[in-house]
Amino acid sequence: MKTNTYKKYLESIVSAMPDLMFLVDEEGTYIDVFSSGKEELLYKPKEEIIGKHVTDFFNDALSEKFVAVINKAISSQILQRIEYELDISSRQEYFEARVMPTHIKENGKQTVMVIVRDMTDIQHNKTKMHYLATHDALTTLPNRTLIFEHLNHAIAAAKRSATRGSLLFIDIDGFKDINDNYSHKTGDTLLKEFAQRLTQITRESDIVGRLSGDEFLLILENTEEMDDILNIIEKLKTALLEPFMINENHIEITVSIGIACYPSDGDNADQLIHAADQAMYNVKKNGKNSYTFYSKEFSILSHEYFFIQNTLRKAIRDNDFSILYQPEFSLKDNSLTSIEALLRCNNEDISDIPISRLIHIAEESNLIHNISRYVLEKCCSQIKQWQDLTPPPFKIAINLSRKELSDKDLVEVIEKNLTACNIDASILEFEITESTLLQNSHFAKQNIDQLRKLGCSFSIDDYGTGFSSLSNLREFNLDKIKIDRSFISDLEESENDRIIVSATIAMIKQLGMTVVAEGVENKTQETILKAFGCDEVQGYYYAYPLEAEEVKKLLLEHKE
Ligand code: C2E
Ligand code: MG
Ligand code: MG
Repeated sequence: MKTNTYKKYLESIVSAMPDLMFLVDEEGTYIDVFSSGKEELLYKPKEEIIGKHVTDFFNDALSEKFVAVINKAISSQILQRIEYELDISSRQEYFEARVMPTHIKENGKQTVMVIVRDMTDIQHNKTKMHYLATHDALTTLPNRTLIFEHLNHAIAAAKRSATRGSLLFIDIDGFKDINDNYSHKTGDTLLKEFAQRLTQITRESDIVGRLSGDEFLLILENTEEMDDILNIIEKLKTALLEPFMINENHIEITVSIGIACYPSDGDNADQLIHAADQAMYNVKKNGKNSYTFYSKEFSILSHEYFFIQNTLRKAIRDNDFSILYQPEFSLKDNSLTSIEALLRCNNEDISDIPISRLIHIAEESNLIHNISRYVLEKCCSQIKQWQDLTPPPFKIAINLSRKELSDKDLVEVIEKNLTACNIDASILEFEITESTLLQNSHFAKQNIDQLRKLGCSFSIDDYGTGFSSLSNLREFNLDKIKIDRSFISDLEESENDRIIVSATIAMIKQLGMTVVAEGVENKTQETILKAFGCDEVQGYYYAYPLEAEEVKKLLLEHKE
């Protein structure tokens, strides 16, 4: 009788409240459910709940948590709360349960009243509020608050891992005029589209935000190399080449960019933004449409980078390149085994810059494919000429950089050149570095496989300067290893280098590959290498990189 009274009383209260109530015993078994008029909130009819255990509805972790909270409510006799999420019909729903100790006993067990409130709408509103508080309404980019948060995290992370990141302060040139000459609405659309272009050119790990008006911030993590930053600036410049089409107006814009590096230029977000802002201000003062670094040292380096890049572009247009050829010889019988093609740029403004730096910049600015096509075409037509002179018992080695090897058209281009010059694929040997192998690109692997199938061979260049991973050597089934010059140059003086080189030679030979020593410059080095059992040598002691005409003479000598 008593039970019926409290039940009815409770039911009338519960029906007026948005909550569900359950009577649950100390073990987590549902004794009763009070849900008058709210059946749709239960997801299950009342009868299917009574007598069931919390584990029937929740996963193990949540059930455990629930039982613990019930026990705590009973032992402390104080109301407890628990918040939890459930995946209901693939929608995340949020709940808050208040667990209240009661004096009711069921089958000799203590009970609690669990009052559950659906918090989904509140939670969604909270998330929405947080989003609105941290994002810019116009562009949907992170706003000042969130950017500060990200930047402080990034600075702390860079300090911890001893890495370097950068902050780009980007300001649209003459934005006020755009607002005045067109309309504020046009200005807003431009900002929105500018934000989109900015987002498109960045990597997933980069953070783009809007500070205010026409001021945008870009946080780049891990910019160890100056070129990492300049590469993004180059992309932004390219992205802005195309005018913005707004209400049938073609609007062209330029930007001024100030760059500060962290942690060196600022210990916290405030300082760093100030430094980048100051650098941006200097760009404005000096005529806009450019960028500069807060630190002078970087500014000089970056001007050099763009100068080289522009000159390379011109050299490609003018076909202003040539190739030198450096032979490799067998230590067994002095025979000529390979001839390595080494690119030279003839444009006198950059002809003194090491070709490896030019290649690096060409890679960063996507000019490498034009250069690659030149080298392959030139080498193949050269091979054809030498071949007509003497059937080649040697190979022609061509260096392939990281992006060249990942080029999806590489095999097709090589096959075309081989056919055009009527030469056999087996004469080509490609030199790649260990880091290129490790990049793990799908196209790189596929290209290696296909070229090997055609009959080309592969060697690892500059071995010892990268990860020297034995598993790579095995996995990629390579033909030849070239030990880097840095180990050869100190062979006479350094006991350590002797140990490394002799062990490397023994190991490579064990794996059934040919071993070449790069950069051999004197007789002593040759004697040591011979004693270690090295197969082949390359270096100034035998021949400098030669003009094609000089190679012709060499071939005729070796023919005799
Ligand atoms: P690499 O493939 O390791 O080429 C060997 C480099 O060492 C060449 O420098 C060569 O001139 C130099 N060398 C050879 N013997 C000696 C020696 O006894 N002593 C000294 N001090 N140096 C020696 P180079 O021509 O400046 O090339 C540098 C790097 O640029 C090459 O290293 C290669 O990685 C890259 N490279 C050159 N041509 C091409 C190309 O056509 N395509 C690609 N992707 N990379 C290239
Ligand atoms: Mg090489
Ligand atoms: Mg090398």
